[in-house]
Amino acid sequence: MTNDKIIEILKAIAARIEEQKDYLTELDNEIADGDHGVNMAKGFNAVVTKLDAMAGKDIGSLLKTTGMTLVSTVGGSAGPLYGTAFMKAGAVLKDKMEIGSQELVQALEAAIGGIKMRGKATTGEKTMLDAICPAYDAMKAAVDAGEDMKQAVARAVEAARAGVEYTKTIKATKGRASYIGDRSIGHQDPGATSALYMLEVLLEQI
Ligand code: ADP
Ligand code: MG
Ligand code: MG
Repeated sequence: MTNDKIIEILKAIAARIEEQKDYLTELDNEIADGDHGVNMAKGFNAVVTKLDAMAGKDIGSLLKTTGMTLVSTVGGSAGPLYGTAFMKAGAVLKDKMEIGSQELVQALEAAIGGIKMRGKATTGEKTMLDAICPAYDAMKAAVDAGEDMKQAVARAVEAARAGVEYTKTIKATKGRASYIGDRSIGHQDPGATSALYMLEVLLEQI
């Protein structure tokens, strides 16, 4: 996967988020303050405006700029959390013009570390981590078993989809949704849903 491809993927993620903006906001409205779609679209639209000037840059720089843009343009929790994730992934892929499956796994691992550090959450708290962590585990297992990148990302998407379903069954103990406690049960987490969209786009682009 080349640096040019990463630019395409980031643009495709922005397009998917824009397309699902109202739905993400609706999910957030059911358990919190109804701005997740708006927040994410604002952040990724800002990322897109920076990408053309980034042509030819290494993958680490692309992801670092993406992360910094998300942190600086998005209020609320998800922007800084995703922003930190992209910055940490960028640090792992510093100076790389092309990456393979192993590096993708390492980048996702670093991204999770960033989210956990910044948000002090873990799995089972009804957050984006409930999609991302199982996706990482599935991707790593697939890569370790010798599957190619497309197969590994397909496993990750499957696991993230199951993770999103799982968020419906648990109560939020982090973020704004935790304010409504048990009443968050039965609702799908918006951040886990946006994380699934990113992985789905990645799969489509490979
Ligand atoms: P805000 O909650 O500030 O309005 P958003 O609505 O954009 O921000 O994002 C909400 C999403 O952020 C939640 O659905 C959840 O997935 C994620 N989230 C919230 N707090 C945390 C946290 N501490 N760790 C990981 N993810 C979190
Ligand atoms: Mg919100
Ligand atoms: Mg908010």
